[in-house]
Amino acid sequence: MSDENEGSHAGHHHSGHADPLDTPKPMREERRPPEDDIAEIAPGVRRLQLPINFTGLGHVNCYILDDDRGAALIDPGLPGRAAWKALRAGLTKADLRVKDIHTVIVTHSHPDHFGQAGKLRREAGARVITHKDFRLFWESDEDDEEPLENVNSPADNVHLVNEEGKTLWGSKQRMTMPRHRRLMYSLMKTRVGQVFIPTPRPTDRVSDGNIIELAGREFSAVHTPGHTIDHLCLHDPEEGLLFAGDHVLPTITPHISGMWHGPDPLRAFFDSLDKVASYDDVDLVLPAHGLTFDDVADRVGHIKVHHHERLDILREASTDLGPATVEQHMQRLFQKRSWGPMAESETFAHLEHLRYDGEATISRSEHDEVIYTFN
Ligand SMILES: [Zn+2]
Ligand SMILES: [Zn+2]
Repeated sequence: MSDENEGSHAGHHHSGHADPLDTPKPMREERRPPEDDIAEIAPGVRRLQLPINFTGLGHVNCYILDDDRGAALIDPGLPGRAAWKALRAGLTKADLRVKDIHTVIVTHSHPDHFGQAGKLRREAGARVITHKDFRLFWESDEDDEEPLENVNSPADNVHLVNEEGKTLWGSKQRMTMPRHRRLMYSLMKTRVGQVFIPTPRPTDRVSDGNIIELAGREFSAVHTPGHTIDHLCLHDPEEGLLFAGDHVLPTITPHISGMWHGPDPLRAFFDSLDKVASYDDVDLVLPAHGLTFDDVADRVGHIKVHHHERLDILREASTDLGPATVEQHMQRLFQKRSWGPMAESETFAHLEHLRYDGEATISRSEHDEVIYTFN
């Protein structure tokens, strides 16, 4: 498979590189509307596809793990009333009542994955399991519910920008995450004045290697930072399953953000890819978008090639750009319609990877922009 086939997980947490609209191609499976049927995937595992109406993704896979106490759900869809209705309809079709849901596992801190976790905790008393570093971009430590006004307050930029209100790389563009905003607004829109978003406050924060009992057997939590710092996969050695979230998707690559609390997010992503590729007892990968596939190592190989090709584009660009800003590199890496904070953030992640590998150094311009100089 060539890199041309490597689309990107477009939208609020996924930036666009190779836009599939450029050339007529069959619709990527991640973009297809949800299937009507609840598919039996493996013993005790069913797949309920929930609708997503934004960002070019057509659905999110909510996996139902049945046991003698009821069921656990992995990634219960988007927040908001319409999504709750869709989830309830899906559960009915699966012969489950809301109160049968005893556990919710959230693979990572994006709205299409944590959506109804808080609601299920409240309505069904479900445990909510996340990685220990799970944190929402607007999260408050005190309140179980967050007024919408606060979601839109400048405070939600606090860990996305430095004190001067600039990006980490000194771009003049503010990292306001407008897509998150618009998404949350559209989801929470109501005729009633004040709206509250039930935040998916976890009951159980797990670490890599922790055992979680699901579908009547033991699953292992696999911390896979990269797409987000709190990304969690689940490994079921007994049945040879890997629940992959957004970490490894069938035909598109997840957005790797430069805005996170640590060095070299792309390195972390590569390490997390190698980690899941090293399992020799995985026969089936269950992603959060798209269909199942069987060869995790093969898919990981393609994703790594894609990022190495992106790194090569930056290396080549540097020979005629000379010392240049993240924005200048972004303009070489992305098509014009994708330019913006998301593309800058992903460019930054790739540049930082090259810097940590010793291929580039940084300095600050007189306007405090970070300048990358390749060796
Ligand atoms: Zn995601
Ligand atoms: Zn996603």
